[in-house]
Amino acid sequence: MNLTVPRDVKTTCCYCGVGCGVIATTDGAQVLAVRGDPDHPANFGRLCSKGSALHTSASPLLRQQVRALVPELRRARGGPRAEASWDDTLDFVAQRIAATIAEHGPDSVAFYISGQLLTEDYYVFNKLAKGLIGTNNVDTNSRLCMSSAVAGYKQTLGADAPPNCYEDIDEAEVIFIVGSNTAFAHPILYRRLEDARKRNPALKVVVADPRRTDTARDADLFLPILPGTDVALFNGMLHLALWEGLTDGAFIAGHTDGFNELKDLVRDYTPRFVAEVCGIAEADLVMAARWFGQSKASLSLYCQGLNQSTHGTAKNAALINLHLATGQIGKPGAGPFSLTGQPNAMGGREVGGMANLLSAHRDLANPAHRAEVAALWGVESVPAKPGKTAVEMFDALASGEIKIIWIACTNPAQSMPDQKLIRMALEKAELVIVQEAYTSTATVPYADVLLPATTWAEKEGTVTNSERRITRLHPVLPKPGLTRHDWEIATNFAARLAPLLGKPAAPFTYAGTEQIWNEHRESTRGRDLDITGLSFKILDERGPQQWPFPEGAAVGRKRLYEDGVFPTANGRARFVVTPYLPVAEPVDARFPLHLTTGRLRDQWHGMSRSGTVAQAFAHAAEPSVVMARADMDRRMLRDGELVHVTSRRGSQILAAQAGEDMRAGQAFIAMHWGQEYLSGRGASHGVNVLTMPAFDPSSKQPELKHAAVKILKA
Ligand code: SF4
Repeated sequence: MNLTVPRDVKTTCCYCGVGCGVIATTDGAQVLAVRGDPDHPANFGRLCSKGSALHTSASPLLRQQVRALVPELRRARGGPRAEASWDDTLDFVAQRIAATIAEHGPDSVAFYISGQLLTEDYYVFNKLAKGLIGTNNVDTNSRLCMSSAVAGYKQTLGADAPPNCYEDIDEAEVIFIVGSNTAFAHPILYRRLEDARKRNPALKVVVADPRRTDTARDADLFLPILPGTDVALFNGMLHLALWEGLTDGAFIAGHTDGFNELKDLVRDYTPRFVAEVCGIAEADLVMAARWFGQSKASLSLYCQGLNQSTHGTAKNAALINLHLATGQIGKPGAGPFSLTGQPNAMGGREVGGMANLLSAHRDLANPAHRAEVAALWGVESVPAKPGKTAVEMFDALASGEIKIIWIACTNPAQSMPDQKLIRMALEKAELVIVQEAYTSTATVPYADVLLPATTWAEKEGTVTNSERRITRLHPVLPKPGLTRHDWEIATNFAARLAPLLGKPAAPFTYAGTEQIWNEHRESTRGRDLDITGLSFKILDERGPQQWPFPEGAAVGRKRLYEDGVFPTANGRARFVVTPYLPVAEPVDARFPLHLTTGRLRDQWHGMSRSGTVAQAFAHAAEPSVVMARADMDRRMLRDGELVHVTSRRGSQILAAQAGEDMRAGQAFIAMHWGQEYLSGRGASHGVNVLTMPAFDPSSKQPELKHAAVKILKA
């Protein structure tokens, strides 16, 4: 690599699911600068505050200071980890896992991986767990992110396939944003929305959110719904659409099943009832329903406010019901468009890298699908028993049912709900393996084995963004220290484990990411996400492409279901009966405030990367709990005064701040701050010491968005 002549490398931003193209300028030793890729259809040259600081997060100094660079190992609990060779470390892990499988069976081992892995990393981890070890105990932090969207799409439309493309923002007449602070969480898409409004002043934006966020402040109509009341809102809008003749009878009759049952349900969701449940004005509800139903093209954008809920699947399904009933799907500018939280949660879903999924949208419960996957993988079989999902996995670790956990590219000691239990589970585990790029995460201290991994600017492979668009990542810098790529670590380990289990290692041997991706590509043949017409060469020469892109196609499909045919057994979409249920933990006299959680503009997840960027703190320098002025006054609190925020599971100390965006009776804490940022003030663990592990029965996604709390002066 030339160390003096700067060169440009095309790659992708590693933060959110918008999936912006990045051009990184490098001299081979550092990333000198980044700029948006003008040819990338996700961002056309733009980058947000996070993306435009990517080069500083990869500076040579930081790579020395905060990165895991050498394998570390402790052979017995109680002592410190010591540096070790890769050979010794992987041999140790392979022997421990083989011994544990022999004594307790394959389900005593679990993998907790990440929506920030590349598709190829995800693919080999999934194959390693299901195809070599023989357990479906492989789940990811996507369970905390998009699993309700997955379940909602599958129940209604028949497949986990977001039907829209970013161009739909340009074509919509009404954009309904719900459960998403798009201006902060998906900033470049929000810029696109702002451009669309400038071009078309008639475009109406409706935002439903418990907080008056920056996104809500810009809206033509803001519905400040009470936390968790989304299903009532959507059912109420459908009630009004029926009452006012705004449903699309021809579409319902021609392309859907189950509408009569849903009609019976929404009859009871009168405007008065819904306005009361949601805490909004009846007139605003009527206006939202009319705008949505009367427009030629209504597009919904939604994210964690719908997903991170014990009724997340119903919230997704109820919104999709509304689109189906009004014919707002399968045409330009219309449809239910889930915005993916993480950069490659989509890629993980495509390779089936979760406890209840199989490759290429196959069904784990279907014996024929399991046999197909086993044949594709070159292994004997794939186990039928569903694996443990995220919350269940850590419960099983705490109970001793799971003995060994391998955590890759994620930080459950900050991001999982009910931190007390998570940390107890990690302490109780017989072996904790952490595969990580950073030494600073809250999970690393629990590691018996630390496997140093490459990260953005060093990795190579593919990701898929929210609009089903696959982009290549190219390495900008060489691997630092002794780091290895995530897929490489998994396959190096498989080569050691396979002989110990008496199985062939060949199915787990790859020359590089292209070979892995080609195997994944073959698994999609004939499936709804067929990409057999694509190759690394096409992606490099013609740029990012959307799926499906089957063999013989000239381009990928930008919008799904334009023919009115859905990927169900009879080709018809299905209405789901979605009764409204309240939040899992109602407020009461002891815990009288609704706590909601969310993102800041310039930080990302647990801050392992964005926390190294000084300018990211200009927007919010330290954590706080934001409350309505009236609630501050009632507690005689001044701005900046320390308070105890306490739920039934734990407590933390934070500075209180009055926020104009808050309704009385509610409080908000950003999700990003963890132990290291709070410990100086006597607090710990971040907001998830307060949140609850209750999860949605279908998607198994926990209710990270809401908890009942009390707030008292510290
Ligand atoms: Fe990166 Fe998302 Fe910002 Fe684009 S919008 S630059 S993908 S963080």
